[in-house]
Amino acid sequence: MSSSADNNSAEERELRQLRVAASDAGLDCRGNAEILRRRIRSYKQARVEQAYRYLLVVDFEATCESQNPDNYQHEIIEFPLVLLDLHEGKVVDKFHTYCRPKLHPKLSEFCRQFTGIEQDVVDSAPSFPAALAAVQAWLQHSDALTEPLALAADCQADVATFLRLQCSLDGIPVPAWAHYWVNLRITFQRHYALERKLNLSGMLAALGLEFEGRPHCGLDDAVNVAKIALQLAADGCRLLVNQRLDQNKSPYYWRPVYKAEAEAKLRSDAAAGGTTTSRQRGRRGRRQASPEAAAAEARLDDICDDETEESLSDLLYLVNLRNNRGGAGGSSTR
Ligand code: AMP
Ligand code: MG
Repeated sequence: MSSSADNNSAEERELRQLRVAASDAGLDCRGNAEILRRRIRSYKQARVEQAYRYLLVVDFEATCESQNPDNYQHEIIEFPLVLLDLHEGKVVDKFHTYCRPKLHPKLSEFCRQFTGIEQDVVDSAPSFPAALAAVQAWLQHSDALTEPLALAADCQADVATFLRLQCSLDGIPVPAWAHYWVNLRITFQRHYALERKLNLSGMLAALGLEFEGRPHCGLDDAVNVAKIALQLAADGCRLLVNQRLDQNKSPYYWRPVYKAEAEAKLRSDAAAGGTTTSRQRGRRGRRQASPEAAAAEARLDDICDDETEESLSDLLYLVNLRNNRGGAGGSSTR
């Protein structure tokens, strides 16, 4: 037998063992070996308290061509939001609207095929500023803004490209709740200790989950991104913002947010009684040390936060030990 066949069978054996261990612990058995290893490890740790009660998942669809030229001015044509309650571990509300583009009111054939959005749908949709006003009203009506809330997406483009371009086109500021966000692709890679980042379908596949609905329909994309966020939380990940808008940093317009800054933002949001929506917060309290010192401290924090890898046999041993003790402190829903 070749060595690659040996490797395959060793990997399959490990996956089977992990599935049995997860099942013994009353955990979800779906997902690949990396996911299961992390899930089992989080099972034996203390339950994670979420930083944010509410997570607002967004997935914009925008005008596009088959080859978007450099500096292409995308305009948002679908604006879906899925509100998650991380304490309850479920979707609590959704918002959805289409938007009418003004620079290129006629959608390209490629865009209609790609997003599934028909011309008459955008023709009768509100302008982006009207849609954003409806979002603000919806947020004010929900409980979400009375407690710290974080925006989340499966990459940085939703805010740093689509929302930034759209707000600039309409001459309006980016809303305060979108200044920072959780890039779930990064959170996912770190939490499950993956070698590389995965896109939406890759993350779902790693978790052993199916895509529900139509890919590139904004609302369906957002619902599936939300499923990933809920699974991360269930697998013991404390979700924190990790990127922020940086209008001065062309060409990407975002920058990373390390753990110390994310925790400081959380504290200042909590002190302010929720996420500011109607006014822009000042810089007061954001950063005490020099930017370099704060970044160095944050990187150190991130490194210290990394968990040491345990071997498969350690994990299996810990699950057995815990089960033999009557599973004290565990919960099958974690
Ligand atoms: P998605 O969330 O993957 O559906 O993509 C969001 C938006 O990015 C789409 O509505 C398009 O405007 C743009 N986009 C994504 N992938 C492509 C692609 N392969 N070609 C052109 N535009 C794209
Ligand atoms: Mg999408």
